[in-house]
Amino acid sequence: MSQELQSAGTLLDRVDPVLPCPNCEGSGLATFYQVRDVPVHSVLLMPTREKAVAYPRGDLLLGFCPSCGFISNVLFDVDRNDYSTEYEETQGFSPVFNAFADSLAKRMVEDYGVRGQTVLEIGCGKAEFLMRMVDFGENQGIGVDPSIVPERIPAEYTDRIAIIPELYSKEHGDFAADFIVCRHTLEHIAPTAEFLRTLRGAIGDRMDTTVFFELPETLRVLEEGAFWDVYYEHCSYFTPGSLARLFRAGGFDIVELSLDYDDQYILLVAKPAAGPTEPAFALEDDLDALRTLVARFETAAPETIGRWRTKIVEATDAGKKVAIWGAGSKAVAFLTTLGVGERIEVLVDVNPYKQGRFMPGTGQEVSAPDFLAEYQPDLVIAMNPIYREEIQADLDRMGVQAELVAV
Ligand SMILES: [Zn+2]
Repeated sequence: MSQELQSAGTLLDRVDPVLPCPNCEGSGLATFYQVRDVPVHSVLLMPTREKAVAYPRGDLLLGFCPSCGFISNVLFDVDRNDYSTEYEETQGFSPVFNAFADSLAKRMVEDYGVRGQTVLEIGCGKAEFLMRMVDFGENQGIGVDPSIVPERIPAEYTDRIAIIPELYSKEHGDFAADFIVCRHTLEHIAPTAEFLRTLRGAIGDRMDTTVFFELPETLRVLEEGAFWDVYYEHCSYFTPGSLARLFRAGGFDIVELSLDYDDQYILLVAKPAAGPTEPAFALEDDLDALRTLVARFETAAPETIGRWRTKIVEATDAGKKVAIWGAGSKAVAFLTTLGVGERIEVLVDVNPYKQGRFMPGTGQEVSAPDFLAEYQPDLVIAMNPIYREEIQADLDRMGVQAELVAV
């Protein structure tokens, strides 16, 4: 028996019946990866260094369901969440990200005929995607999100977008939406099967409704040992297969299941069905691969952590200045998991709302990228490889000669 199969076998032996799977609500979860004392929020940037360092922390222990492939933090405590207007998640200051959001919204309008309809977005953030859907298809929008800041939505949208600053619940089922969007939100929700029941119940017999979900893809995270993609805010981790199984069991038929954004995101488009539906896409068949990758992550993650720790320690011991580009959740996870975060003094971000704020956990102040012209780092770590060219162009423009690496 190969070593991988053996460790996958051990993983199955570890299934704990007192940890029922919140996604398929059956069997139990096998735990496989732990990080202690991580900030409970990672994009809630703090006004002072003291508050940032003292930010509440929680423990993370990932559990894997061998039946449906779902992964969740079994120690997640929803009461520790605080999604308020201080939540700064937007990537809308990056041209790469904006080009992606533009083409995605245009494609949704085109492929699913979303014109002159009502679009409801669950977890709409600063409503940047909803504004695009409203513009491109001349639609009406409803945005549901506790972190929404009405002042950041331009006045010309006030007649076309209704804002509901709340967490989505069954009370919102009264809105007869034709197209329901939910992007980068489901991974923040722990009882996923319960959420799907709420959604399916809200749609009821309006069988023409289309739902579109987008969220991070986890096979890549496991494959790369990408520990920076595992953090407290994300309590739920999906692959195309586990996401599809959730929707099929919850009374939806899937019309699109694909990967986008350099394969970092899963896109799922579904229609309500009368009951459970059967798998139809090759991407859904990922359970064997998942079992192997989960078993491998147990060793791959510590290896990746060790490699980055060595790189940063060696660079700073040699007197080199290290900066991080991108002060989002990945950076919080990267710095707190590595435990050598204090060796990195400078973090920059293109989002002006993050600048002058402080990183939860390690407490660095976030600067504008232009600060690097003065700081002249020797090594810049980009927190997402997709922005590499954009960052290199900015470094060249500022005359920064630093080595650029990406996680
Ligand atoms: Zn399950």
